[in-house]
Amino acid sequence: MKNAMPKNSTQTKAEKLREDFPILKTMVRGTPLVYLDSAATSQRPSQVLAAYCLFCQSHNANVHRGIHSLGEQATDRYEAARERVASFIGAPSKHTVIFTRGTTESINLVCYSYANKFLKRGDIIVLTPMEHHANLVPWQLVANITGAKLRYWPMKPDGTLDMSATNDILKPPVKMVALTHISNVLGTINPVTEITAAAHAIGAKVLIDGAQAVPHISVNVSEIGCDFYAFSGHKMCGPTGIGVLWGREELLEEMDPFMTGGEMIQEVFLDHSTWNEIPYKFEPGTPPIGEAVSLGAAVNYLSDVGMDWIEKHDHKLAAYALERLSSEEGIEIYGPLNGERGALISFNVEGIHPHDLATLLDRDGIAVRAGHHCAQPLMRQLGVPATARASFYLYNLHEEIDQLMEGIHRAKEVLAYAR
Ligand code: PMP
Repeated sequence: MKNAMPKNSTQTKAEKLREDFPILKTMVRGTPLVYLDSAATSQRPSQVLAAYCLFCQSHNANVHRGIHSLGEQATDRYEAARERVASFIGAPSKHTVIFTRGTTESINLVCYSYANKFLKRGDIIVLTPMEHHANLVPWQLVANITGAKLRYWPMKPDGTLDMSATNDILKPPVKMVALTHISNVLGTINPVTEITAAAHAIGAKVLIDGAQAVPHISVNVSEIGCDFYAFSGHKMCGPTGIGVLWGREELLEEMDPFMTGGEMIQEVFLDHSTWNEIPYKFEPGTPPIGEAVSLGAAVNYLSDVGMDWIEKHDHKLAAYALERLSSEEGIEIYGPLNGERGALISFNVEGIHPHDLATLLDRDGIAVRAGHHCAQPLMRQLGVPATARASFYLYNLHEEIDQLMEGIHRAKEVLAYAR
């Protein structure tokens, strides 16, 4: 094939890693699955599946309760997973890592427990137009409840934030800045360290939505210097139902609980209660124990593969996809075109609705996402109701991008014939 990429060592490693992912052997409508939807949810390697199975078969019990051996084993494994996650993201202590159900819950926790308590009428919350609804709708509620106002950072036509507006945007009474590290639609990698420093200079706090970043690039919350960092297990080779909120210790201490019930208390009286220490204050009820243990295994897996390698591999795939898609007539690509982007590309093919494109690609076994990607305000700004999105991860190959292109050609032919 004319455009096929020559094999390289990165490719060979990816081919080997694919062996770890049993689902990649799936046949879809008689053709091998080409999974290009890891930004929605990633696949899980045997090592992570085995960790969940082993926990269920050999160590399953509730945590922080039982005096019995199994209870101790479960607690040790749950807490070891917390420790692993903490070191993976450069958290200063494991107590600052809270297990949640995912990014959505992590952000809601900050809105409810921090923002509703500390923000007031007249304060300003800065967001960007490229936020996922998970980092937008909760802030609308905070604004309704506290009387604070929302302000949006301007975005340039290339899908990057207009950093020349920093001084206009970040000035008192801004109290909170909440932004995504990597956009799930544009692939833009935002300068979160620079923005955090500028926000701190005016006394504002910073929350970063890392759902699309932690799986793909090395993230160190201490180096970024932010106050809160949220992400999900299922986008980083881990299971659904588990996520993380990292928070600065002194802020977590000042915050009230998000949800209440068992385990998050120190003492309960008939008319009042006192709270457990962090992070347990924010983990009421029985947590997703096996899921947390599996997230620990996912972190081990990603560390063994090497985040530097993953970042390079993803970057090469995105650059190749960008090259192929942009050399094709009638394809509009959204987000930065210079290759400085995350491992995903949103695009539209002229004359084909993205839902039709995704349906036709599925007939060839190719899984892409089509829709508004939980970013309706961004879709409005781009002037489209929806886009198709191909996203890549450590197990994807350059050949799969060639297959995507062939699938797009076939879709064009089918629809031209149907007209
Ligand atoms: N933020 C971003 C940037 C995302 O891509 C997603 C998932 N699509 C979320 C937040 C929400 O993550 P979850 O559904 O796992 O809570």
